[in-house]
Amino acid sequence: MRDEAQAVIIGGGVAGCSIAYHLTQMGWRDIVLVERGTLTGGSTHRAAGLIGQLRGTYNLTRMIMNSVELYGRLLQETGIDPDWRQVGSLRLASSTLRMEEIRRLVSQAKAFGLDVELLTPREAIELCPIIGDHDLVGAAWIPRDGRTNPIDTTRASRNTTWWGSGSSPRMMNAPLTVAGNRSNLARTETGSLTPPPVTSPAPTTAGTPAAPA
Ligand SMILES: Cc1cc2nc3c(=O)[nH]c(=O)nc-3n(C[C@H](O)[C@H](O)[C@H](O)COP(=O)(O)OP(=O)(O)OC[C@H]3O[C@@H](n4cnc5c(N)ncnc54)[C@H](O)[C@@H]3O)c2cc1C
Repeated sequence: MRDEAQAVIIGGGVAGCSIAYHLTQMGWRDIVLVERGTLTGGSTHRAAGLIGQLRGTYNLTRMIMNSVELYGRLLQETGIDPDWRQVGSLRLASSTLRMEEIRRLVSQAKAFGLDVELLTPREAIELCPIIGDHDLVGAAWIPRDGRTNPIDTTRASRNTTWWGSGSSPRMMNAPLTVAGNRSNLARTETGSLTPPPVTSPAPTTAGTPAAPA
């Protein structure tokens, strides 16, 4: 294993593989993905895979809008089917206060370019008849939302055919420790990597990368 890398990514969950994909798209060619367990073995493994674009901030909304575009072409790009189903979603309000919040989110999201509309209770029930109308004040309909299989989506983003240039991220199967976020030396049980601009999506399940389980 070479002991240098342009970027070291800690964690082979959906976030780590997505970062590897996007860095590669930006022309980064020497990436190491370090995973202490198995690819997708963290919280990615447990996710339902619901993809909802109606968010409270511009950055989150745009990021998930980009994900939706990406999921639509993953099968074609990678040969792995992420089981992306663009069935749309409903955000329901059962109080006037909640409806007020949805109204605010919707007008904000429309300004961000999201395809979303407000529905009356009757319109929501027409779209999804199993909803009871008891306490239903209104809803938002997001037609381009959907669900995906988180494991296959992650596997697809790790798939070597995706990397275009013929160079794929190197995988290291080991816990990785760094001495703080900007450390220039990352250690695993099988050696050291330097200089690593460490990108770490891992702490969602791992605490800090400096303290692997
Ligand atoms: C029950 C449940 C349902 C969910 N449903 C949804 C949903 O419907 N929609 C949605 O968008 N989100 C959902 N989520 C949230 C979603 O699962 C997470 O946001 C997402 O999986 C986080 O991905 P990640 O790559 O950041 O983390 P993880 O998938 O946890 O990946 C982190 C990886 O890093 C590795 N790692 C950690 N430390 C080290 C180290 N020191 N060295 C080497 N490797 C290390 C771990 O082994 C792990 O594999 C759900 C979560 C749960 C638990």
